[in-house]
Amino acid sequence: MVQCGPERIVVLSGPSGSGKTTLVRELVARAEVTLVKSVSATTRPPRPTEIHGDDYWFLTDAEFREKLQNGEFLEHAEVFSSGYLYGTLRSELDRAREQNGWAFLEIDVQGALKVMQQYPNAVTIFVQTPSPAEFERRLRSRGTESENVIQRRLATAERELQLADRYKYVVVNDQLETAVSEICVILKAEEMSRNA
Ligand code: 5GP
Repeated sequence: MVQCGPERIVVLSGPSGSGKTTLVRELVARAEVTLVKSVSATTRPPRPTEIHGDDYWFLTDAEFREKLQNGEFLEHAEVFSSGYLYGTLRSELDRAREQNGWAFLEIDVQGALKVMQQYPNAVTIFVQTPSPAEFERRLRSRGTESENVIQRRLATAERELQLADRYKYVVVNDQLETAVSEICVILKAEEMSRNA
């Protein structure tokens, strides 16, 4: 079903290690438009510093599948062939609407394609790292993943990169400041075009 309502959705994707997490935090704090960060649901276990309801809604497999059956997800995907499910609950869009802001989704490419089908007006942004070597360096410097996981993420990133041209905007996250400013300009322009 294609929705053409007044929905305001920003989708940001990019390989893990592209600096997305920092970028998202900076944008929520600094963008001139109101960004309401969508809290995804996942069956992945929480990392030590992660908080339920803040970083993710951490669900069991059964809970996730029940919500899926009930049609509560806007999109969902199994990410990195890890066996873990991730998805955006429709209620996150409601929350953004209630706050009169943009729903800000940081999701993978598979999920982004599903959102684009339903909301062709969504503002979609792909974040790219300057080079494959830099990307691998960032991924390893986090030090939280096993070699196996890193290899899978590198392979996923390569596949994702091939889909970058499906996004409305591609931003290279070479310098964080530059990337933040570029996206702020994009969002401001998109908001103005909706209000025109
Ligand atoms: P992590 O496990 O490192 O927090 O996230 C792994 C990947 O899952 C990220 O690349 C992120 O974009 C993706 N992801 C997070 N939430 C969602 C979601 O709701 N839907 C989809 N399709 N992907 C998600």
